Amino acid sequence: MKRHIQSNIKQLVGAYKDGIINPQNVIDYSLDDAAKLKILNAFVRLCPEAAFHQAKESTFRYQNKQEKSYLDGVPIAVKDNFCTKDIHTTCASKMLQDFIPPYNATVCEKLFNSGAILVGKTNLDQFGMGSGTVDSIFGPTKNIWSEDLTSNMWRIAGGSSGGSATAVAAGIVFGALGSDTGGSTRNPASYCGVIGYKPSYGLLSRHGLIPLVNSMDVPGIITRTVNDCSLILNAVAGPCKYDSTTVKKEFNPFILEDEISVSGIKIGIPEEYNCEGLSEDVKETWIKIADLLENEGAIVKKVSLPHTEASIFVYSILNQCEVSSNMARYDGIEYGHRAEDESSTEQLYAKSRAEGFNTVVKTRILAGNYFLLRRNYEKYFLKALKVRRLIADDFKKVFNNENGVDVLLTPTTLSDAPLYTDFIKSSNRDQCAVQDYCTQPANMSGIPAINVPIRLSSRGLPIGLQLMSDNFNDQFLLTIAKWIESQVNFDCLENNQIYAART
Ligand code: GLN
Repeated sequence: MKRHIQSNIKQLVGAYKDGIINPQNVIDYSLDDAAKLKILNAFVRLCPEAAFHQAKESTFRYQNKQEKSYLDGVPIAVKDNFCTKDIHTTCASKMLQDFIPPYNATVCEKLFNSGAILVGKTNLDQFGMGSGTVDSIFGPTKNIWSEDLTSNMWRIAGGSSGGSATAVAAGIVFGALGSDTGGSTRNPASYCGVIGYKPSYGLLSRHGLIPLVNSMDVPGIITRTVNDCSLILNAVAGPCKYDSTTVKKEFNPFILEDEISVSGIKIGIPEEYNCEGLSEDVKETWIKIADLLENEGAIVKKVSLPHTEASIFVYSILNQCEVSSNMARYDGIEYGHRAEDESSTEQLYAKSRAEGFNTVVKTRILAGNYFLLRRNYEKYFLKALKVRRLIADDFKKVFNNENGVDVLLTPTTLSDAPLYTDFIKSSNRDQCAVQDYCTQPANMSGIPAINVPIRLSSRGLPIGLQLMSDNFNDQFLLTIAKWIESQVNFDCLENNQIYAART
């Protein structure tokens, strides 16, 4: 039987409706593929029993023409920092390795209510702190495009949602939730050759997404096509009574036209993104797509976002301040790993944290507390907040002044996926400073951004570009992304050797 998993969500659901295939077959394929591709380490946990049960129910619904939605029976994956009721949610950390949430994150609840089937929870850097999916108690995730997965010549999947991006790129699921605080959805999407979308802050609920930096975190969506991305978005977006930062207005589902014209659309090329360390391959790709847009009638022009370079420093300070406050909940008593120490409450806290957190988390807690000391608060935290405002204002101006643009086109990452052995030579902080250069500013200002895979580098690895637009202009952003997608015709599964070898 033809592998319908290779299609898109609309085609899959069409095949369900026509009785060509049913959700039980597809879930069998998904779980089978996940097992065969264990070497990638995309999943920290598979959920076969629940998935088989849901697939059976979904199959029954299709037989009776009672499907719940256009996502009924669609296999999905969820990053392991979203709470899933009765299913372990570990944040890839020892601290939460035994944590079983009693409720679903709102976005998960909405997906499950729409009939989507959870195949498994995916790997990440502990608590989402990283850009490689290399700092997990379950070990690193390997990039499916690696030249060689068995020797040490394999490449990182990017992060911190590397497990989700890999599960999608490998054709195991149609879509996956990631989280995006500084680029964690877009970065792995770029390295794995898939769509990675960071919605406007406030469009999706953060309730049940274990917080990293509350003022920047958003649930992200990873898929193989822009249409699939918007279908998932339509199922999960909207106000949530448990998250006061969601916009109160009812969400109007996005409809992406099939016939799109970019004629007259204003595209900005921010000069600050042409930065040190940008590879020739990425630069060429960037120019190629800018030219393509211009040839089709778009107005492409250079713009300036002058505070871009400050972004990495500001992000780092604010991130660590919020991390130090967020991590205080893990004391071994209310939550998380409890050390064996009964000498005093303080000792129990200290030992539980010493054992439960990795060095990256501990370093951020310490740095955050330092920045928040009374004598440092104004010098670091307040100053960083002010510069954050300047970064947000850069975007506001570039989108809203008289000569404003509609969309910004930039690289997502500075190069294609690095080799694991090269990547881990630098510290987590240095990795983030390089990896997140193009992605962090969007989180600082809350604007939507998306990675669109474009082509393969000279080494045969995916290169993606990033589009950003003004706050809550998400539908427009996805429309332009869809246009680019239709022009470049990058099919992740067709290009992918490992996938091809399996089919
Ligand atoms: N790399 C960044 C960090 O470690 C971003 C992570 C993310 O977006 N979750 O903080």
